[in-house]
Amino acid sequence: STIFDSLLRPTIIAAARSDRIKHTSERLTVTRNVVRRFVPGDDLDDVVRAIWRQLDNGTSVSIDFLGEDTTTEAQADGTVEAYLALLEAMSAIHAALPGQLEVSVKLTALGQSLPEHGPKIAEANARRIVTAAYAAGVLVTVDAEDHTTVDQRLDIVRSLRGDFPEVGTVLQAYLRRTEDDCTEFAAAGARIRLCKGAYAEPPSVAFPDRRLIDEAYLRCLRILMKGNGYPMVASHDPVIIEAAALLAAEVGREPDNWEHQMLYGIRTDEQRRLAARGHVRVYIPYGQQWYGYLVRRLAEKPANLTFFLRALGRQ
Ligand code: FAD
Repeated sequence: STIFDSLLRPTIIAAARSDRIKHTSERLTVTRNVVRRFVPGDDLDDVVRAIWRQLDNGTSVSIDFLGEDTTTEAQADGTVEAYLALLEAMSAIHAALPGQLEVSVKLTALGQSLPEHGPKIAEANARRIVTAAYAAGVLVTVDAEDHTTVDQRLDIVRSLRGDFPEVGTVLQAYLRRTEDDCTEFAAAGARIRLCKGAYAEPPSVAFPDRRLIDEAYLRCLRILMKGNGYPMVASHDPVIIEAAALLAAEVGREPDNWEHQMLYGIRTDEQRRLAARGHVRVYIPYGQQWYGYLVRRLAEKPANLTFFLRALGRQ
């Protein structure tokens, strides 16, 4: 696992930037089969079915329309339209079963990195989504991407929260800055999803090994649990899952004042077990642009890569 973290994980993420590897992967049937473990489908119908299955399991959901690194304004508009269609479908689900629904959005899919006025465009697009989500009874959480995007994202989230205080965001425990961000957003009473972090980051900005990341996660979680906001504990790690329950009890936080979150297709049995005793939200991505998402999931676990390569060998 140490060799995996220090050598393989950064290599997978770096190799994945190659367009040739991306295009080859997208064409292979085997990749499609691996993708289906983590992404229930390409279309709105697929995700609506997945939402109902998940709600039947007693969990709530957060839905992500896949996309990132948008290079044109038209592409960003397309993403907004996809979210508006999704929210219309979710509004019908909300009418049948209120209070369980969230969408997750990535600001780079909404135009954050466009050369001119990127952050302004992304904020305007995010506002359209948030406005529709509020009308539909759906919460919004802004995902965390690589470290170069954090300052702009947090500025946009602060601004959105001025009008829509329930807009939440993600803080990544592997970043050295995150304890300070937790302190700020916990004091402001924000909904914060805490995760370890999934991008390949330099040691100048991120803790370089697993033990340091886990320790940082627990320090951040304590700050969030003690704060005024709503902590969302996004981790499949059994140690962190147990620690979260203990910390909540220690600070006197009620079970309906924080939640667990996990990814679609990962530790499904544990999702069900936790749903029986508390609040669990499952993050479900859908859409055609699954490549970046798949690479991050493969890079998280050596066994996933073995699974993928074996399947490739059988082609
Ligand atoms: P790990 O120590 O990585 O894993 C613990 C155990 O969980 C593993 O031993 C394994 O059993 C299981 N597991 C973990 N990952 C996998 C996998 N891929 N396949 C199979 N089993 C696995 N990251 C961001 O950078 N930005 C975000 O916005 C973001 N949003 C997230 C939202 C949710 C709801 C979740 C759950 C995660 C999100 N992440 C995000 C990813 C996160 O940063 C981690 O990369 C990921 O959750 C793995 O870390 P872990 O805490 O589960 O612990």
